[in-house]
Amino acid sequence: MPSEFSGKHVTVAGLGVSGVPAAKVLHGLGAHVTVVNDGADERARTQAAELEALGVTVRLGDGAASDSGSAAGLPEGTELIVTAPGWKPTKPLFTAAEQAGVPVWGDVELAWRLRGHGGRKAAPWLAVTGTNGKTTTVQMLASILAAAGLRTAAVGNIGVSLLDAVTGDTEYDVLAVELSSYQLHWAPSLRAHSAVVLNLAADHLDWHGSMEAYAADKGRVYEGNQVACVYNVADRATEDLVRAADVEEGCRAVGFTLGTPGPSQLGVVEGLLVDRAFVEDRHKSAQELAEVSDVNPPAPHNIANALAAAALARAYGVPAAAVRDGLRAFTPDAHRIAHVADVDGVAYVDDSKATNTHAAEASLAAYEPIVWIAGGLAKGATFDELVAGAAKRLRGAVLIGADRALIREALARHAPEVPVVDLDRTDTGAMPQAVREARRLAEPGDTVLLAPACASMDMFTNYNKRGDAFAEAVRELGA
Ligand code: ADP
Repeated sequence: MPSEFSGKHVTVAGLGVSGVPAAKVLHGLGAHVTVVNDGADERARTQAAELEALGVTVRLGDGAASDSGSAAGLPEGTELIVTAPGWKPTKPLFTAAEQAGVPVWGDVELAWRLRGHGGRKAAPWLAVTGTNGKTTTVQMLASILAAAGLRTAAVGNIGVSLLDAVTGDTEYDVLAVELSSYQLHWAPSLRAHSAVVLNLAADHLDWHGSMEAYAADKGRVYEGNQVACVYNVADRATEDLVRAADVEEGCRAVGFTLGTPGPSQLGVVEGLLVDRAFVEDRHKSAQELAEVSDVNPPAPHNIANALAAAALARAYGVPAAAVRDGLRAFTPDAHRIAHVADVDGVAYVDDSKATNTHAAEASLAAYEPIVWIAGGLAKGATFDELVAGAAKRLRGAVLIGADRALIREALARHAPEVPVVDLDRTDTGAMPQAVREARRLAEPGDTVLLAPACASMDMFTNYNKRGDAFAEAVRELGA
């Protein structure tokens, strides 16, 4: 079937999770596709061979991803670039594209443009972004939408590619879409039905260049919203982004709060999640949605995630009972404040996914008293604010990993009375020893919390492995 891509020369920048499907889809639509990719390792060579067999041109070891000026320029005749979301906007390839007036899209932009393609139903998108809580919220949202009997999926930055969702055989009524700041950067024409920015803390600043640029890319999620721009009442920056957005006539700003909701807000009243936005008379009435105990786990930041998911679902017209049923049916992914075990009256909680200080701050706020296991790769973060905020809840701290001295120093400054164990080892025995030390410091009723506030790659393959090592060590304690 002829398409706007027929005969078009498209360069796909980067193989991998987004590049391979993008190249296949574009090729299938009749485009002349050239893939450029810097690396030429075995995985890249296999992917390249697969694409070449279809008739796609692949240039491995191309230098296009390079940050230096000596990189390869635009492939001859390029009319459009579809880039992997992680590629930095400052790359010479993109400068060359700008000079030549060639548009650059990410995989999300391509998926957005292909909605409804081939006579499929163009399902609206409910979009979720923010520094932390995206995956949890988008999964809660999908669970709520499914409980309302809608055909839906959690897609985007969480493993299921948007491109597959919009071009595959399954038809959806509505999609719950997780979007990273990178993906938003490269998605200029995306217009969600409704969207939320959960929170905004400094992250990925090396990529975006500045906090302003990062915030602006997150804020793109609100552009052109049709029904609701959902913001976090406790995080002014998210409300500012709503104010700055250009939305459809009649689109509303809806806040979520852990406190009592005002009109046009969702919040918490006496152990209940309550909606004062999507009700007949929001000045006089409120709709009960669920009990706080329906949220799993009912930690404050997770209740905030549940309220954000509920707001998007309600914006789409989902009844209150489905919010409750969807939240009850939801189980969080592993390593996100997962309760591992109780040993001798002490709870052991794995929040290995807390890879930055903002995430760790949320889980440290959820327990008291805490023996905190922290450390790893700091990625340029500082820990003063985090430690000062958590100091009075800490029974003790056990520090691991490459940048543990940064946390130790912050503890010395803001919590000098808190006992600290500093583990100077990175071998496989480090986590079991950390857990044993934590047990020694803990008293019945305490929580031993792995919330490292750091990336894991100095000691583990990824945060999953770090969390697994913790859980394994806890099980050994109980044995
Ligand atoms: P993301 O997809 O944005 O990385 P996740 O849902 O995977 O978010 O949660 C990652 C970590 O962030 C969790 O383990 C938890 O420590 C923290 N977190 C989750 N929700 C929030 C929130 N609303 N505010 C702050 N931190 C949060």
